[in-house]
Formats: sequence, C-alpha cells, structure tokens
Amino acid sequence: MNQVRNVVIIGSGPAGLTAAIYTARANLAPVVLEGQPSSTTDQPGGQLMLTTEVENYPGFVDGITGPELMATMRAQAARFGAELVVEKATRVDFSCHPFKIWADSDPEPTYQALSVIVSTGARSLMLGLDAEERLMGRGLSTCATCDGFFHRGSHIAVVGGGDSAMEEALFLTKFAESVTVIHRRDQLRASKIMQERAFKNDKIRFLWNSRVVDLLGKSALEGAVVEDVTTGTTSTLDVTGLFVAIGHRPNTDLFRDVLDMDDAGYLVTRPGSTYTSVDGVFAAGDVQDHTYRQAVTAAGTGCMAAIDAERWLEAHGDAPDDIAETPTEW
Ligand code: NAP
Repeated sequence: MNQVRNVVIIGSGPAGLTAAIYTARANLAPVVLEGQPSSTTDQPGGQLMLTTEVENYPGFVDGITGPELMATMRAQAARFGAELVVEKATRVDFSCHPFKIWADSDPEPTYQALSVIVSTGARSLMLGLDAEERLMGRGLSTCATCDGFFHRGSHIAVVGGGDSAMEEALFLTKFAESVTVIHRRDQLRASKIMQERAFKNDKIRFLWNSRVVDLLGKSALEGAVVEDVTTGTTSTLDVTGLFVAIGHRPNTDLFRDVLDMDDAGYLVTRPGSTYTSVDGVFAAGDVQDHTYRQAVTAAGTGCMAAIDAERWLEAHGDAPDDIAETPTEW
C-alpha cells in the first residue's frame, strides 16, 4: 500500500538534491526519483557526473570533482531523511490531486504526491561520436564557464555556429592561446553582434564547412579529426580542449501537454518563483533555465522550489506535521 507523499522530486542533479535537503529538513519526508543510468552521458546526478574538476562551486577551496560533489549532496539529503530511489519517472498525471507519478515500467501509479518538484535538467546536444563518452571531462567539455580555466595557454576548439558557440569562443580567449571555431556551414547562425565580436578577436579563427568526425586521445584529448564537408578530406587539428556548443535540450518530454513550456521546451515558471502552470508543481534547475546553467544556480532554484512547495502545502491546509505523521493511504 502506497502512502501519499508530501513531495516527490523528479531528478537528482544539484537542483533536485538541494530541494531534497531543504524539504527533508522541513520534515516533509521527500522522495527523490534519481533516474536510471542509460549511458555514461545520461545518469543519476545529472551533468556534474560528466565533469571532472569543479572549481567554481562555493565552499571548496581546492575544487571537487563533479561526481564527488553529487555524492556529497546525496549523502546530505539522505542524512536528513530524504528517500532516494533509482527509478525513472515515465509518466505523470497532474490533472488530479494528489498528483500521480509512474516509475519505470509500473502499470499502476508508483507514487501519489501532494506536491512535485521537477528538476530533470537539460542535456547538451553532442556530436554522436563514440569517443565522446571516453573523453568527456578529459579535454572534451560542454561548458566554457566551468572548464575554460583548465586551458590556459592551450590551443583549443569550439564546435558550432550559434550564439552559444560564439559566446564560448570569446570567453575561452581569456585563457587559450588560440580558439578554432569549427562550423559545418560557411555562415554563422549567431546574431550579427556576436559574429562581429568573434571576427574581431585575434585569437579566434574559423574552420568553415567542417565537421568533427573523431577525437584522438585515450585518457585525455589530444586532437580532433576534422572533415571538410565540401571535399570529404580529413585532417587532424592539434587541440587539447574541444567545447561542443551546438545547443541544449531540456529533459521535458515527460511534461509535454502537462506543463507550460517555451518554444525550446524549457518549463515556464512564474517570474521570481518556481511555480509552474500547475498549482502544486514546481520546477528548478536547468529544466527551467536556459540562461545561467550553473550548478550553483540550479542548487539555488532547488532551494527556492523547496520553500515554495513547503509554503504551498501549508497554505493548502496540508501542514507538514499532519501529513508526515498521518500519511493518507490509497
Ligand atoms: P543554436 O542557435 O541552435 O545553434 C546551434 C549551432 O550548432 C548552429 O550553428 C548549428 O549549425 C550547429 N549544430 C547543430 N547541430 C550540429 C551538429 N550535429 N554538428 C555540428 N554543428 C551542429 O543553439 P545555441 O547557440 O545554443 O543558441 C540557442 C538559443 O540561445 C538561440 O536562440 C541563441 O540566440 C540563444 N543564445 C543567446 C546568447 C546571447 O545572446 N548572448 C548566448 C547563447 C545562446 P547550423 O547553423 O548549420 O544549423
């Protein structure tokens, strides 16, 4: 027999685990659906599991690895009584209250919840090369803000022709000796102002009509094999860093026609809060943020979602004490 949960948190990156810490300490006995590992680029813990050193998360003078940071947050959530389950939400019904959530292949709803925090994150689009899994966090990156610092004085490259690629390339010139932008066409998609900034920067050069077809290096990136798409010839670019900036996709398939989204599929939240279009459902982290995309901002909105959920439960007569001590049976 399942009890109705106060809070079900879907997703276990920094946003979900911070929401778990806060809701657990508020005596809401949260359950966190951590997700199921389906590949090395999609696993519980989110994008930080693909990162080696994290040096910009406050509180760690000497830095910390992404997986260590997530293990620490997870242990902190568990310490206060959050229930962490290795399950993937496969279906939700937010049209009735309590909300229903199905996990894995369960035919019946696995959970009923008085409130839900969605923190399913986003993923960077990748090139689809076998070598990406091996070299991710070892020279291959999707975040210049996170990893640019490791490339001081190096020759590196950025893949993509949009605003993100230009922004990453410009940022990376603060550290790198040279930044080669590899773009599959002979024209950029980026806005004119970003193009101009990139063209004006002496450290940036462009490889047009080119695509990366392989990455070299066993435990660290040593080069990229680039194909000229007009001639089919390949050459090796000697770079020790490669930043893939070809777009992001929020993990929101589960919420299509359930929660309001913008044109790019990010969940829409009420400004200054984590309220979604469904009362009692909150969103935190990259699933609703295409601007900042940092672990610390995800954690910040996870905290906001926990506080929003707690206050919402109180306002709706479902005071935490009542619920936690006398769970409803269904
Ligand atoms: P984007 O605009 O969709 O650009 C993606 C780029 O990656 C395109 O140049 C595309 O090539 C290329 N690409 C896509 N798939 C590829 C593949 N498999 N292999 C190689 N190249 C591939 O994405 P974005 O740059 O992340 O920007 C997303 C949105 O955020 C945009 O609206 C953008 O304006 C906005 N944004 C704004 C700023 C800013 O204003 N400072 C900064 C970042 C992002 P094609 O051009 O050939 O399609």
